[in-house]
Amino acid sequence: MTNAVLMDLAVGLASGAVKVVDLSVTLSPDTPILELPEEFGWGKSWPFSKEEISRYDDRGPAWYWNNIKCGEHTGTHFDAPVHWVTGQDLPDNATDTLPPERFIGPAVVIDAVAEADNDPDFLMSLDFLKSWESENGTIPDGAWVLYRTDWSKKGSKEAYLNKDETGGHTPGWDPETVAFLAQERNIIGVGVETVGTDAGQAAGQDPMFPCHNLMHGANKCGLASLRNLDQLPTTGAILIAAPLKIEQGSGSPCRVIALVPQG
Ligand code: MN
Repeated sequence: MTNAVLMDLAVGLASGAVKVVDLSVTLSPDTPILELPEEFGWGKSWPFSKEEISRYDDRGPAWYWNNIKCGEHTGTHFDAPVHWVTGQDLPDNATDTLPPERFIGPAVVIDAVAEADNDPDFLMSLDFLKSWESENGTIPDGAWVLYRTDWSKKGSKEAYLNKDETGGHTPGWDPETVAFLAQERNIIGVGVETVGTDAGQAAGQDPMFPCHNLMHGANKCGLASLRNLDQLPTTGAILIAAPLKIEQGSGSPCRVIALVPQG
């Protein structure tokens, strides 16, 4: 590779031939966060909040700034392998030690909009994934595998979390699908539009929370609460997701962007 690749990118960004698409939600007190079933209710993630320090006033005449507070897994966010017990002993598994090469890679988009619309508890099967590959090619090395459901377009927090007395009802994965991605494909990780990388009913799957269990156990990462996946091509975009460098962090809110060729 010569630096012509990067020069072409710079020219493309300047001309608009390469568009930058924001895949992130806005952080506010209303940003939906994962609420675990009651039996896991002993630990709660803080919703996002901010407190004004000063705003060009007697607390600071020339400057505006805030204190902020939230759980690591709030809004559009990065899951590091150390997030799960299966990834706890892996090398370079936390937000501060993950190699930065893992923060950028080709994005592939698997469209399951119709399936998720038809069944909120839809679980992507291995056959579904393999039929995607037979149409679009083998998932490339270093890819982010994005699971498009258009779930991010739900109009309210209630519709987005879609909870009833049995818990959340949002799409996810068959365990064998994530096992295949974790073991047979050399990917960075998977990204979803829902509040977490697993299905709403994943506490009852075997293993429970299979995407977390199997992906993090294979030193792979996750992205949750993505949006605008409908603005990405099936293949051909580059995704950039760099978590905050929290010492031994399990994840972090993240501004996720995609570079998308136009025309
Ligand atoms: Mn998470």
